[in-house]
Amino acid sequence: MKAAVVTPEHSVEIQDKELRELEHGEALLSMEFCGVCHTDLHVKNGDFGEVPGITLGHEGIGIVKKIGPGVTSLKPGDRASVAWFFKGCGHCEYCNSGNETLCREVKNAGYSVDGGMAEECIVVADYAVKVPDNLEPAAASSITCAGVTTYKAVKVSQIKPGQWIAIYGLGGLGNLALQYAKNVFNAKVIAIDVNDAQLEFAKSMGADLVINPAKDDAAKIMQEKVGGAHAAVVTAVARSAFNSAVDCVRAGGRIVAVGLPPESMDLNIPRLVLDGIQVLGSLVGTREDLKEAFQFAAEGKVVPKVTKRPLKDINAIFEEMKNGKITGRMVIDLKL
Ligand SMILES: [Zn+2]
Ligand SMILES: [Zn+2]
Repeated sequence: MKAAVVTPEHSVEIQDKELRELEHGEALLSMEFCGVCHTDLHVKNGDFGEVPGITLGHEGIGIVKKIGPGVTSLKPGDRASVAWFFKGCGHCEYCNSGNETLCREVKNAGYSVDGGMAEECIVVADYAVKVPDNLEPAAASSITCAGVTTYKAVKVSQIKPGQWIAIYGLGGLGNLALQYAKNVFNAKVIAIDVNDAQLEFAKSMGADLVINPAKDDAAKIMQEKVGGAHAAVVTAVARSAFNSAVDCVRAGGRIVAVGLPPESMDLNIPRLVLDGIQVLGSLVGTREDLKEAFQFAAEGKVVPKVTKRPLKDINAIFEEMKNGKITGRMVIDLKL
């Protein structure tokens, strides 16, 4: 079967791979779609360590073809996910307290184990989340990483109906954060992006206020117009966005960090203490979070913007990603 495999030269090659037999608790998926995430670009480039020979892909959706011994949570014909959170140890303090994505023994699809950017993929059945019947599989692939990551971030922000939430960066992640915040949590959304086209798109998705920080002081506008946001979710990969987020919230506000610029942010200690603000990191989501994120998408509350591409386009897609030419999500159609 064909698979998108990382090479020692930091490129991706479509290779023929033979999969091993299923072990206890595993299932074999015949892959339908796999989204291309910014994380895949980091993995391919060796930014998290060299992983030559690994099959990429952690936004995978496939149909169960076969189940191994002992599997009761999936059956042939079910549709299920291949997510970045591929498997936890199942017995540590994180796994047992609703924080399984923080498990120190975690396996990540398309990084520490072979992922879903292939015609077939082996998953641990109890960790593959079932996709609701009425959710289109290409859309589901986007929810498997981008969707659940932003859903979880908005959840962690503890935003309440009618409150203001600032979303920094309206790309592949941000536009889903906007939809979850608006259509699931009933919040008022402020969209902040340096790209006017993304802001227009945000407006069409229902953003209540849009700000381009290249032209205006985003934090100042939010403090003046709405008295400061109740929470901010930062998906932008820019230190300036994190610093602005600290300034944009009102007293007691929460800043949820999702984007990963490899830098430090400025956090004024009197601001932190006297205004009681909170800064939290949020990493993808648990299986329960993904189940919920799928369900809201199945109900039409969140609609990912996807473009289907053949597997052979993978290096071209990384080129486009590197050059910032992608809007929405590129999704590999394994049947093309
Ligand atoms: Zn991802
Ligand atoms: Zn664990």
